[in-house]
Amino acid sequence: MAQITITGVNLAYSCDETDTILRAALRVGLGFPYECNVGSCGNCRFELVEGEVEHVRADPPAWSERDRQRKRYLGCQARPLGDCRIKVNLREHYKSTHPPKRTQAHLFVVEDITHDIREFRFRLEDPAPFLPGQYALLSIPEVVGARAYSMCNVTETGEEWHFQIKRVPSGAATERLFAAVGIGDTIAADGPYGMAYLREDAPRDILCIAGGSGLSPMISITRAAAASPKLAGRQVHFIYGGRGARDICGEPMLRCLPGFGERIFYHPAVSMQESDPGGLSWSGRVGFVPDIAKELFGEDLARFEIYFAGPPAMAEATMRMLLEMKVPPAQVHYDQFY
Ligand SMILES: Cc1cc2nc3c(=O)[nH]c(=O)nc-3n(C[C@H](O)[C@H](O)[C@H](O)COP(=O)(O)OP(=O)(O)OC[C@H]3O[C@@H](n4cnc5c(N)ncnc54)[C@H](O)[C@@H]3O)c2cc1C
Repeated sequence: MAQITITGVNLAYSCDETDTILRAALRVGLGFPYECNVGSCGNCRFELVEGEVEHVRADPPAWSERDRQRKRYLGCQARPLGDCRIKVNLREHYKSTHPPKRTQAHLFVVEDITHDIREFRFRLEDPAPFLPGQYALLSIPEVVGARAYSMCNVTETGEEWHFQIKRVPSGAATERLFAAVGIGDTIAADGPYGMAYLREDAPRDILCIAGGSGLSPMISITRAAAASPKLAGRQVHFIYGGRGARDICGEPMLRCLPGFGERIFYHPAVSMQESDPGGLSWSGRVGFVPDIAKELFGEDLARFEIYFAGPPAMAEATMRMLLEMKVPPAQVHYDQFY
């Protein structure tokens, strides 16, 4: 067990050799900045003042040559090789409501949602509650490195975590998960993580924007908003986008919520009407989800609390559109997918 001391604030915490400097800090309730947890965003960068660390992922995308020269490492990837002193600016905002736990997850339901999105439901050996919109790290057997997946359910006890996962062609984790992980199997899980969770105290209507793999956290947020007494008078608009008609999903999950059609609204859209390989026809909206949001709400976007999730290109386009529409950044919540 290594002792990690944060310089300047006179704080120290323990980190075992199988954990990382970021996650061990979050487990003891410290506000260590982060976002993706898989070495891609760089938000958890810290400076190593004394001691030695090694990165779990040898060459994470967010770790630059300049970082190496300046002895900066990524908290989500750095394992201590003995006691360390580090420099990082802790922020209140990053403190976990439910500190993350490492546990075993037993798969008990697998259900197809579309041709390439499947729901996987796990029961946890050690229950861990989470906030709607948060994610966990799943270690898929024989795949190097854990992957981040957002939960789609709502739970108080944290006994079950359900995930809606999109199969990525030739993707190391998803190909393996879809082909070789079945009911009765157990995998290692670690969570919850993430800052893009439902703000029940925000006095605004809610807009959820999801593209493809972003379905899961937006479903969790909408389910929780539908059930929240604090949000009882609020509208929830759910925009979901896919390439063609066969990619469109989510409506049956929302239709069973109280208030569907009265204060909960579903707006699906395809980006490529003409080329659905499934041969399904489409007579609904056509366009990319940020454009659909702008078309539907225009200047009114600034009156919403906005949550979004999906592939990087969709997330970047959504962020650009929200900036252009002058939506206050404090009303926008997302964890970038990689
Ligand atoms: C916060 C967050 C939430 C997400 N939620 C969802 C979700 O709800 N549903 C969903 O379908 N997808 C989600 N994703 C995307 C998911 O984590 C995977 O990127 C995706 O499933 C592709 O994984 P793959 O291994 O099949 O594909 P690949 O193309 O083989 O791998 C892609 C991803 O794995 C990372 N990776 C590669 N090697 C390593 C390693 N050694 N250690 C760690 N990471 C590595 C890459 O940087 C890249 O991000 C989320 C991602 C993030 C960051």
